[in-house]
Formats: sequence, structure tokens, C-alpha cells
Amino acid sequence: MAHQEDGSGIIMTTIEQVANWGVTRSEWPVTMGLACCAIEMMAFGTPRFDASRFGMEVFRASPRQSDLLIVSGRVSQKMAPVVREMYDQMADPKWVISMGVCASSGGMFNNYAIIQGCDHIVPVDIYLPGCPPRPEMLINSVLELRKQVMNEHKITKKRRLAAARAAEAAAMNAAPTHEMKGLLA
Ligand code: SF4
Repeated sequence: MAHQEDGSGIIMTTIEQVANWGVTRSEWPVTMGLACCAIEMMAFGTPRFDASRFGMEVFRASPRQSDLLIVSGRVSQKMAPVVREMYDQMADPKWVISMGVCASSGGMFNNYAIIQGCDHIVPVDIYLPGCPPRPEMLINSVLELRKQVMNEHKITKKRRLAAARAAEAAAMNAAPTHEMKGLLA
């Protein structure tokens, strides 16, 4: 920001930064809960934690009106195609937060029924640790996501998308969960 002699000021920025500022001030998460972490995610929107202070408490009932997917809890094999379909139906640009240790790595559920990390099915932007993470931690992860998006420009966005596609391709070629031996190997 530069100041003129008469006290007025001008701001110099780029259209990209203004657009990034706009999209990061009004995330609309899609309504989807998978397990116990979802209870903490619900608390995140209540008056006690008041996520609306940051303009992000409006959970949308349709993925077509949402740009943030919070994977809250372990993802079973049965739910995996549903989660992926919801992600595919969301509007671009879109982001994913993996909430809790189960969503990020399968957590304590080291078995054939649970996907060992939701990054096997969707590209994850933020991994939120904890079992379950507190609502304040979820608020913090959305604020961290904002910083990430604000610092993103065309080239890094392309790189991020390329990395996400590469991760998806690797996940498609990885051994299926029912073939994994886990701790019993
Ligand atoms: S991380 Fe903990 S609270 Fe969250 S789904 Fe797993 S067991 Fe439940």
C-alpha cells in the first residue's frame, strides 16, 4: 500500500491475489460425516466455537455448492466410492481436509474394511492429526488452508494439481487393502 501526499492511499495487487482472497473468505464445506470425528466437526459450527467468525460455517447440503470437503473419520471400503463421487461433484477450485488420524492413515483400524488414508481416493490439502481433533484444531486447519491458497499462484497450482494426479495414479496402482498384511506381515 502506498500513501499519497493528501493522505489517501493506493493498493497494488494482482487479480489472482484478489480472487484467492475472495475464495478463502467464504469456504462452504459439504455436509458429510463419516464417524466420531464428525461430532467434533458439527461442534465447529456451533455458537461455542463460532466458525462463522471466519465466514466458513455454512455447511451445504449439495456438493455442487461446496468447495471444501472435510473427511471426518475413517473411510470404509463401502463409503470410498461415495466420498470420491462427492469430491468429483464439487465445484472447482476445491480443497480437502483429512480430519483425524483415521481419515489420514486408517488409524487404529488396520484392517481390510477401512481405507488406509483418504489420500488413496481424493487429493488431500491439509492433514489434521488427533483422535478426535478438537473443533479449534479444525478452525486452525481451515485458517492454514487459507494461507496455503493465498500463497498459491498459477505455477504452484499447476504443480499441486500435477502432484495430486500423480498421487492418484500411484494410489490406483497400489496394492488393494485386502492384499495388505499390515502389522501381521
Ligand atoms: S480419529 Fe478417533 S474420533 Fe476420529 S474417527 Fe478415528 S477413532 Fe473416531
